[in-house]
Amino acid sequence: KYKDLEFPRTKYGGRSVVTMLPGGGIGPELMTYVREIFSHCGAPIDFEVIDIDPSTEGNEDLENAIVSIKRNGTAIKGNIETTSQNLSEISRNVAIRNELDLYVNVLHCKSLPGIPARHQNVDIVLIRQNTYGEYAMMEHEAVRGHVESLKIMTEENAERVARYAFEYARQHGRKKVTTIHKANIMKLSDGLFLEMAKKVHKDYPELKHENMIIDNTCMQLVSNPHQFDVMNLPNLYGTIVANVICGLIGGAGLLSGRNYGDYYAIFEPGTRNTGTAIAGKNIANPLPMINAGIDLLNHLGYKDHARIIHEASYKTVVENGIRTPDVGGSNTSTDVINSIMDYLPNANVV
Ligand code: ADP
Ligand code: MG
Repeated sequence: KYKDLEFPRTKYGGRSVVTMLPGGGIGPELMTYVREIFSHCGAPIDFEVIDIDPSTEGNEDLENAIVSIKRNGTAIKGNIETTSQNLSEISRNVAIRNELDLYVNVLHCKSLPGIPARHQNVDIVLIRQNTYGEYAMMEHEAVRGHVESLKIMTEENAERVARYAFEYARQHGRKKVTTIHKANIMKLSDGLFLEMAKKVHKDYPELKHENMIIDNTCMQLVSNPHQFDVMNLPNLYGTIVANVICGLIGGAGLLSGRNYGDYYAIFEPGTRNTGTAIAGKNIANPLPMINAGIDLLNHLGYKDHARIIHEASYKTVVENGIRTPDVGGSNTSTDVINSIMDYLPNANVV
């Protein structure tokens, strides 16, 4: 999977070391649940925890986090709040993705049976451009009252995102890739994104390739999401579409998202929410971070641990209806976690 390793992976005693960035809001409490569940079922992971304080000047925490991920190869992450509008303070989340060249974000939007939602049986995979595009963070005020913001699109970047989308579709037995764009208005930038997708499609003749304008996409998603299979999206449209689909299938409290480059991977809640307003109340849905933990275990090859945690959380949430309020339940976060642990084998009893 990795082309070449920049750093040897930290590994000892048959265990893997993974960077943990709890972030702000509900991040730290959700990370506690991940650690409890992993330790309960004996998942062979040791976390190197790095707290990033968004209110500090300078970027020492951020640099420590990046060095740690380079050393360990993988991370699990909560959202780090960007507290200031100061131009010199860039989003730490975006900075980490850029620095590690995590050029693709993968979000598998699959409905869970029985969760109250606008649409059931949705199964869409979003392949989102995760660097460049509208998130280039190149904005300046040319003269007072006149701001310019650059959207960066390169052949190389658009091509590797498209290739990831088609390759994913092929390897997962999917039938169709839909490239989302606004090339009628942004002729050069979105035009290039679309052109690269058409070019890459030539290598995948067994797959169908369609394209759709972003605004129509939002309408089509709300009225009939079942028409979509794999979607290939520029950065900003990717996050908007992700939030639309999550809203359709049950909200921010379900899905995890995966960030990949050629060397590193970061696992996190799918819609990257901080959840500041619900922090510390024992009501946050733990599933987005539990699912990020399952993704992490799968990525590192601990398939059995991934499977049993998935089964335990499925039994809890789907079969027994032990759910937090965001998905129509009346249970607390810790009720959900305790039930998941009840269904898991306990690795700590002799
Ligand atoms: P952002 O930080 O991106 O603005 P928020 O943190 O405001 O996003 O989250 C958006 C909405 O989703 C809020 O209503 C929040 O309560 C809800 N939400 C996010 N994560 C969860 C979760 N894990 N469980 C329940 N609700 C959540
Ligand atoms: Mg918010």
